Amino acid sequence: CGIIGYTGTDGGVVDVLMTGLSGLEYRGYDSAGIAVANSSLAVHKKQGEVSALEGALPDESLGGVAGIGHTRWSTHGPPSDANAHPHEDCTGKVAVVHNGIIENYQELRTELEAGGHAFTSETDTEVIPHLIETAIETGATPEEAFREAVHRLEGSYAVAAVFSGSETVYTARNESPLVLGIGDEGHYLASDVPAFIEYTDLVVYLEDGQFARINPSGIVVTDEQGAVVETAVETIDWDP
Ligand code: GLU
Repeated sequence: CGIIGYTGTDGGVVDVLMTGLSGLEYRGYDSAGIAVANSSLAVHKKQGEVSALEGALPDESLGGVAGIGHTRWSTHGPPSDANAHPHEDCTGKVAVVHNGIIENYQELRTELEAGGHAFTSETDTEVIPHLIETAIETGATPEEAFREAVHRLEGSYAVAAVFSGSETVYTARNESPLVLGIGDEGHYLASDVPAFIEYTDLVVYLEDGQFARINPSGIVVTDEQGAVVETAVETIDWDP
C-alpha cells in the first residue's frame, strides 16, 4: 500500500528505503520488501512488519545507488513472503513494486505463461516484470521496456522499477498517488510525502498517465507518448 524509491550516490540507499517504509506504515500493510540495484539485484522481502524485514537484512552492506521498497496491502494472493513485493522477472534483471490493482492481469499472465514465463507469486503485480523482460528480449532499452509494459496495464497503479547495473529508477502512475522528491544527495519517489520528508521538502506531483525517471543527478517527467513535461516544484509545509 506504499512505495518508495531512491537513487543517490551517498551510499545511503538502504537507510532511505527503510526510513521510507517506516514513514508509510500508517497506511496499513501486511508485508514489506526492498530491492537494491548493483551488477545484480539484491531483493529482500518478508510477510509482517517493517521491523521483520529489517531483521532479515544481511549484516553486510547491500551497496548500490538505486533502490525501491514496498509495503503491501494484499488484493491478489494472500500475505506471504512469496507474494510480498518487489517482484522480479525470470532473469533477475528487473525488480518491480506496485500499489493498486491490475484489472487485466489474468489475461496477461496466461499470455506470458504461454510464452514460457514461470511465475513465483499469486499477485496481479508479477505480470509487470515479465512484460518488461519480454520487451528487453526483443531489444528494448530499460526505459522503452518499462513504458511498453505499463501501456499494457489496465487498472490502478503506482509502479516503480529498478534494473541490474543501472542507477535509474523508473516510475508511472494511474489512479494511485505518486510524488517525486528532490534532495541534495539524490532523488526520491513515494506514494506519499511522509516517506521522504526527513530528507527533502521539495516535491513534484505526478499526474495520471505520466511517467518519470529519476537518477542521482535529476528527474525527468514524460507524458504517455514520451514527450518531456515541464514540472512545477512545490515546497511542502510540513511540521512532523
Ligand atoms: N495488488 C497488489 C498485490 O496484491 C498490490 C497491493 C498494494 O497496493 O499493496 O500485491
